[in-house]
Amino acid sequence: MKQRREEAAKSRRPFASEGTDGYFRDQPVELHIPTVDILGIPIHQLDREKLLWRLRERQEAGLSTWLVTANAELIVRAGDNPTLARALRGADLLVADGSGVIWAARTLGTPLPERIPGVEIAEDLIKWAASEGLKVYFLGAEPGVAKTAVAQLRTKYPGLTVVGYHHGYFSKDEEQGIIEEISNLRPDILLVALGAPRQELWLAEHTSHLGVSLAVGVGGSLDVWAGRAKRAPAWMGNRGLEWLYRLITQPWRAKRMLALPVFVYRVMKTKGR
Ligand code: UDP
Repeated sequence: MKQRREEAAKSRRPFASEGTDGYFRDQPVELHIPTVDILGIPIHQLDREKLLWRLRERQEAGLSTWLVTANAELIVRAGDNPTLARALRGADLLVADGSGVIWAARTLGTPLPERIPGVEIAEDLIKWAASEGLKVYFLGAEPGVAKTAVAQLRTKYPGLTVVGYHHGYFSKDEEQGIIEEISNLRPDILLVALGAPRQELWLAEHTSHLGVSLAVGVGGSLDVWAGRAKRAPAWMGNRGLEWLYRLITQPWRAKRMLALPVFVYRVMKTKGR
């Protein structure tokens, strides 16, 4: 194995260490995963299962990963904000969060396998962490929410190791303390729930010096785990109507949702070129 690692280091193609299911054993980590361009943002062609394989493979090979789950709204914002677009293009993995992105990929003739809702992948990561003793840190949501969410998750996934959490309404002065806390605790998985695009901009700025193995922006997941927000029922999600559910249950989001028709317009314009 040592020799393989040395060879891998030389060729810049790291090897995964012993895989638990044999899948990764002695396989070189495939760093190139095909992407589909959605309005300038490269989305990786991965379904939920393959994404988990990839994350595990990278973790076992000692590669740090910043994962973005991108929805239509985030992509529209990136189209209007070059700093955000640059940040997203710097992420290690980007997957399609929401049926809007799946629709766009199909419309542009470059289909993506399936939507991977952020809260679902976040829960997959929690499950993984609990089963393998990986350390998790939560950053975000209103004060008190993370504590409730962690209690719920610990009941559901006994053995989950949460090394810390902090709410998401911190000042610039408090930020340095949070960064130091995360760096000192060295979690394997950092879940950041500051809402999009704040969490993506925050992660783009800080992930490289936090020393975490895997960092993901998870939007409103802590609110869902804490029982403060509900996900759209499956029949709505499967019909691409999560946006309608959110509009009904969180009407204050209406202004933000104007990004959706803009997304459709920009995709159709790109298609017509
Ligand atoms: N939030 C936060 N700090 C902020 C703004 C928002 O921690 O400065 C949290 C908010 O409390 C909520 C999450 O970020 O828990 C955003 O959830 P939302 O469902 O709006 O996610 P999005 O759709 O923006 O990804």
